[in-house]
Amino acid sequence: MHDSEVAVLRLGHRPGRDDRMTTHIGLTARALGADRAILVGEASNAAETVTDITDRFGGPFDVTVTDAYRPILRDWEGDIVHLTMYGEPVEEVTPDIRERHRTDPLLVVVGAGKVDFEVYDHADWNVGVTNQPHSEVAALAVFLDRLFEGRELDREWVDAEREVIPQATGKRVEDC
Ligand code: SAM
Repeated sequence: MHDSEVAVLRLGHRPGRDDRMTTHIGLTARALGADRAILVGEASNAAETVTDITDRFGGPFDVTVTDAYRPILRDWEGDIVHLTMYGEPVEEVTPDIRERHRTDPLLVVVGAGKVDFEVYDHADWNVGVTNQPHSEVAALAVFLDRLFEGRELDREWVDAEREVIPQATGKRVEDC
């Protein structure tokens, strides 16, 4: 769907409290066109769920868990977008981000609780999906859809065991 990589970095995971949200960050990153998710902290349960979904419903999509985000920000060879309610409007800055992303890998950072100010400083763009407080899952979904201009909705899935066949009513899932 796209040439350069898109990775999602999930900061600030609080075990227990954030388990579902961190899982949903991984699932949303996968479903809406990112190539991989990096979960910082004790998020191995969330990573296992995302891996299980990828095994059943296809990929490619990779998820990893790491202890520290600073080396990832420091060593990232590409652009960094930090999604925050304090950032510039998504509708204004995404065309520039998309243009750069034609050649450069993109790291999309989302937080949980309070995000350290160094993340704001390190980002090439701090991007707000509205300047209202809401959810990192919602912000990620809107940002990816704007970045890919909807093309992620037509993605081909590889190595799936199961496929959902769209239905007007009811559920149909087939073995691949
Ligand atoms: N005040 C917190 C902070 O330091 O940014 C907000 C935490 S919020 C519950 C969790 C995450 O959701 C944020 O780190 C950000 O990634 C995302 N988020 C929330 N509202 C957003 C918005 N309007 N635009 C972009 N991202 C948002």
